[in-house]
Amino acid sequence: MSLNLVMLGPPGAGKGTQAERFAREHGIPKVSTGDILREAVHSGSELGLAVKEVMARGELVGDDLIIGIVRERLSRPDAVAGFVLDGFPRTAAQATALDDITAARGPVICVEIQVPDEELVRRVRSRRVCEDCGANADAFEHKADELSELCQNTDRCRSIGPKWVARSDDSETVVRERLKIYWRDTRPMIDFYKSRPTFRVIDGLQTPEQVREALVSAVASALGMAASQLQSMVAQKLGGGAATPRRARG
Ligand code: ADP
Repeated sequence: MSLNLVMLGPPGAGKGTQAERFAREHGIPKVSTGDILREAVHSGSELGLAVKEVMARGELVGDDLIIGIVRERLSRPDAVAGFVLDGFPRTAAQATALDDITAARGPVICVEIQVPDEELVRRVRSRRVCEDCGANADAFEHKADELSELCQNTDRCRSIGPKWVARSDDSETVVRERLKIYWRDTRPMIDFYKSRPTFRVIDGLQTPEQVREALVSAVASALGMAASQLQSMVAQKLGGGAATPRRARG
């Protein structure tokens, strides 16, 4: 059975962190449209040049462009057994396209992480990302000596250590613009999913570990199974051990 998960929620809700852990622990790829676009900007590719300004203003890139990127990414062999989508869909047109892309793949589980706006602004302003691999850290929630543990993704991160920088679109003005766009374009789209039996809501003000547990329970219940059943199914698939929960990364 494929495990198709869509993380919904405003910027700073914790979607990226939770998506990454869930994907790792369940042996499926995390597909983050924000990461794909940031990598393109970083590498200076044609796509990067096309989206750089729009992203810096906190606006959304065009539907056709992003739908094409996701359609291609989800068609790769590693996404056949499932995926965790982070940052997509964000508009009604993207949600309709996702239904089309996933029509033959079994149920798509949609989980919304809810967090009040003021907390989101606080989190996003203190957020740091590793310039090399994109790992996330919250400067308020981690002590300096924990930060190197949070990012071990590339050879460079492991040998020289991560390079923590603020995301260029995380300034207060741009964050408020992103929240405005979220409430105007993305939140109404979530109503599109609300009536589906596979839609769930999670309280994002809990600790990262509690959110992680709530996410596993939400996915299991959307599939009509207990959390322990889901865990043992995944443990079998991964050959045991890998599905054991690890400490929260924040
Ligand atoms: P956050 O999770 O903090 O909202 P992301 O990392 O998901 O931000 O996305 C960063 C930026 O990339 C967005 O502000 C937007 O410009 C662009 N982007 C990402 N995903 C999409 C999408 N599905 N549709 C349009 N633009 C997107």
